[in-house]
Amino acid sequence: MSVSHDFFEDAKQHIPGGVNSPVRAFRAVGQDPLFIDHAKGSHIFDVDGNEYVDYVCSWGPMILGHAYQPVIDAVKAACDNGLSYGAPTQKETLLAKLILEAVPFMDKVRLVNSGTEAVMSAIRVARGYTGKDKIIKFRGNYHGHSDGLLVTAGSGLLTESTPDSAGVPKGYTQTTLLANYNDEDSVEALFKANKGEIAAVIVEPVSANMGVVPPKEGFLEFLRKITKDNEALLIFDEVITGFRLAFGGASEYFGIQPDMITFGKIVGGGMPLAAYVGKKDIMDVVAPLGAVYQAGTLSGNPIAVTAGIESLKALKADKDIYNRIDKYAAKLEEAYKNKGITVNRVGSLLSPFFTEGTVESYADVLKCDTEKFAQYFRGMVAEGIYVAPSQFEAMFISDAHTKEDLEKTLSAIDKVL
Ligand code: PMP
Repeated sequence: MSVSHDFFEDAKQHIPGGVNSPVRAFRAVGQDPLFIDHAKGSHIFDVDGNEYVDYVCSWGPMILGHAYQPVIDAVKAACDNGLSYGAPTQKETLLAKLILEAVPFMDKVRLVNSGTEAVMSAIRVARGYTGKDKIIKFRGNYHGHSDGLLVTAGSGLLTESTPDSAGVPKGYTQTTLLANYNDEDSVEALFKANKGEIAAVIVEPVSANMGVVPPKEGFLEFLRKITKDNEALLIFDEVITGFRLAFGGASEYFGIQPDMITFGKIVGGGMPLAAYVGKKDIMDVVAPLGAVYQAGTLSGNPIAVTAGIESLKALKADKDIYNRIDKYAAKLEEAYKNKGITVNRVGSLLSPFFTEGTVESYADVLKCDTEKFAQYFRGMVAEGIYVAPSQFEAMFISDAHTKEDLEKTLSAIDKVL
């Protein structure tokens, strides 16, 4: 049928579901995944020779476009010096300084390998620092696949949390309390019922893992205040929003200073690299200074760090990038709206939702017609537009997207919808 199909059949014999991360299997959209051959700028090419305008952008990292030359050149040069040492390099400090320039109210950075690891570690630090065990997370927010965070379901505000994944013992999630995004009362109730026991509230400042759902006016300010009042830490999970909404991410965009931030995706320029950041007194509880253990053979890997440095340098040097990608996203937003589709957008993150009315909560998101989404997805792919194969993901715009890409996408939206 197609080379992608043949490769997928072969992959399924050797890799669970044929993929190394579930959404890639395209199960929600009823077609075989595209196997990728290469990508350049805003375009991605599959193994059958088809070319697509790419709005997945590796799920966020490729804000400068694929194979961005300064990053590629620096990475190639770094490879000649060896791939990993398991010893410190000065480049790690350079990247740490670049990250801290983005969030100048923070003091220290620890580099890790994935967003999952960054969040898992930040929560351990929050618990170690506060001496408390419980955390609050929001239904529909995703923070990676570590045991204690794989909880989104749960009926009723104060009922027991249940793991979303088999293989997660109940005990691991019992300290994860669930609140509703954009619902202050649900957070207040948890603080009241668990007085003095909450180490941290973790939130995606813009929810982007249930489709894009922006924070309601005042919601993040409310989280800042209630955490402070209760001596709990506020952790912004900026794995998606970091270096995307602005160079300083959501904390700059909304003017709010959390106690800790997790970064991933863009910070590694497409390489496996992530980070967690905090004030000095918080970060100094991390080993070897303090009692919270966190380590990694490949942490601060010189090649990944090089890609991160070159990416952040490019973003820092040309902050007008954010105006350009936001404007591009606004044009897409308008096109969906003109077709009567509900759409949420914050900066260069957006999602069309196949549902009636506004989408402001996890409950709203669940009302979406995923079959209609699947039809839309298949239509867009047939028109050469690669969007995420799920209703519950964001569209990512890069600085490499061109006027021609936009025209092509607008006419695909017009045709498909
Ligand atoms: N936090 C957020 C907000 C994310 O979007 C993701 C991944 N999409 C993660 C954490 C986990 O990151 P990773 O996939 O790199 O482990």
